[in-house]
Parts: sequence; structure tokens; C-alpha cells
Amino acid sequence: MSKRDFYEILGVNRDASDDEIKKAYRKLAMKYHPDRNPDNPKAEEHFKEAKEAYEILSDGQKRAAYDQFGHAGVDPQAGMGGGGFGGGGFSDAFGGIFDEIFGGRGGGGGGRSNVYRGADLRYNLEITLEQAAHGTETKIRIPTMEECEVCHGSGAKPGTQPKTCPTCNGSGQVRLQQGFFSIQQTCHKCHGTGRFIADPCKSCGGVGRVKQHKTLSVKIPAGVDEGDRIRLAGEGEHGVNGGPPGDLYVQIHLKPHAVFTRDHNDLHCEMPISFTTAALGGEIEIPTLDGAASIKIPGETQSGRVFRLRGKGIKGVRSHTHGDLMCHVVVETPVNLTERQKELLRELEESTSRDNGAQHNPRAKSWMDKVKEFFGD
Ligand SMILES: [Zn+2]
Ligand SMILES: [Zn+2]
Repeated sequence: MSKRDFYEILGVNRDASDDEIKKAYRKLAMKYHPDRNPDNPKAEEHFKEAKEAYEILSDGQKRAAYDQFGHAGVDPQAGMGGGGFGGGGFSDAFGGIFDEIFGGRGGGGGGRSNVYRGADLRYNLEITLEQAAHGTETKIRIPTMEECEVCHGSGAKPGTQPKTCPTCNGSGQVRLQQGFFSIQQTCHKCHGTGRFIADPCKSCGGVGRVKQHKTLSVKIPAGVDEGDRIRLAGEGEHGVNGGPPGDLYVQIHLKPHAVFTRDHNDLHCEMPISFTTAALGGEIEIPTLDGAASIKIPGETQSGRVFRLRGKGIKGVRSHTHGDLMCHVVVETPVNLTERQKELLRELEESTSRDNGAQHNPRAKSWMDKVKEFFGD
């Protein structure tokens, strides 16, 4: 049974504020409270669902975990074992590309204590803003530990069998007596596998697995953002002693873009316009992620003015609408002027100051007035 997305349950966006989440929950709680719906058995289900979603999303730490790992990140039943990723921190596994997300002790093995779920792995994938906006499919080559073909995973030299570890009698754990307490520890002789290999396989050195590479196809949904993760179930490390494999998390990183910067689903860009266009107005063409668009610049446009192109931003993975494109005007001072051009500008300057400069440069005038006031002049 697949669980519904917590944000979807509350009907809020992924970037919703704590306040929005609280409000959404209150609304649903009022609507579905069992006391108010004695004849609707579904109401209680909705109520519980909303309550669970609220409990996770209203807790900063749990919400962060949920954002990163989905239900697996907050569900104690999801087989993360040992308190999940509370331990935090990624340790390097395969030479830096991969990091172990969880300790590797999944507890998903059921029954035998020396059956472990494989570690979850992270793969850092850099994509362009265009790929993030439109979605893409890409192939990644990842190192993987595959079953050794020589010993078929047993780790023992062909013709021999691994034996039960004599130290722990195959349990993988040993009990130590410390004063009044008895502590359970991983067996040092067999590293918790419960097996002892007298004659190791030469091909894999007794590990039972060998390092290989595999190519995986990854679908990147449109709208992904920096830090988002795509989970490839079962593509993590192999389990130990028949335990289930871990998952592979492809973590998205966005390459810097030449024109746009991204802020959630909005895009920002700088729009330099000439001094003359700023004064007289005009139409200029600007790039968007879906081709060119044009903006009408009204006369007397100042630096810093922002033109918002609605819907020209990015449609987030979980949002229903596109963000906007914000074009920030920068009025460019002309450079490399010829003598004639300078002359024209001087003429303009003379003309504007002759008929009362304040009228043409109100900002400069008001600034000058403030400066004078400041010096008590
Ligand atoms: Zn082998
Ligand atoms: Zn042992």
C-alpha cells in the first residue's frame, strides 16, 4: 500500500511556511473530526492521515527528513533500523562519488540478527537549469558490488564451505559481561556475518562480492531543484547474508546558469538596457527557458525596476503552476563614446539644467536636499 504525500494530504506546497501548514491542518481537522462526522467512517481515516502529516511537517527535523527521503525518512517501519539517519553524516564508500547514507544495519532481515539490509547510497548528479525545468533522462554509471562468480557469493574457495563462526556460534553477536550488565556486541572474528571462512575464495578475497560497474537509467522529473533526491529502490549496496539491498539516492545539483538564477520556482535575470531606452522607452527581447519573449520598457524606467513575466519561471515537481521570471533593470552608462557623442550628451545636460534640473532628475534633487539638511546648510 503506498502512502500519500504529506504535502498533498494537507493541500500545501512543498515550500509552505509553518503557519500555512498549521492552518491547513486545522481546516482538515475541523472538517474530518470524528465527533463531527459520526455517520462517515472515512472521516476518521482522513483525520488520522492529516494528523500524521501534520506531526511530521510541523517538526522541523522530521520535515527535513521527509523532504529528503520521503516516507522512508520518517517511518519507523521502513527498515532504516537503528533510529534511521539520526546519526547523520555521510561516510565515503566508493571513493567519494558515493556516500553511505545509513549505517548499513537495516534490521530489515527479519529474524536472524546477522542479516543486514544493504547500505543506502548517494550519487551526486549535476544537471543544467534547462534539464531541471523540462525534465530529462540520463544514464549514470555506478560502482557496485556484485556477487562473485567464482564462489557464488559464499566467499569460500570453490569446493569448500564457509563454517559457522566458532566465536559466536553463528549468531554474529557476542555477549560481554561487564559488572552487572551483559552487553551484546558484533562478533569481531566474523564481523557479524556468523560465518567463518577457513579457505577464502581468491577472486573476491572471501568477501563474496566483487566491485563492478553498472549503468542505470535515471528519469529526472521536470521541476526538480537543488538538493532534491530521486530514489532508485534496491539499487544501493547488497544486503549481508541475504538481507535486502539498500536504495540509491540520486541527489540533484544545478549547474550555474549564464543568464538565470533560480529561487524556488521563480527565475531572476539581469536586464541591462541602454540609457536612451531607459529614458525614451522601447521594446527589448529577453530570453526565457521556452524561447524569446519581449518586454515593453516604458519611458523613464529606472535602474532596479523589476519586470515580472508571469508563468515564465519553473513548474516545481509538486506545484500546479509555473513560477515567474523576474527581470531586473540595470541602466547601462554608455562607454567608448566618440567626441561627437560626448558633445551631444553635454548638450543634453546643459539643456536639462537650463530648464530646472530638478524637474528632470527629481531623485538627484531630493538627495541633494537631504545632504544639505544633513550639513545644516
Ligand atoms: Zn569469491
Ligand atoms: Zn562470529
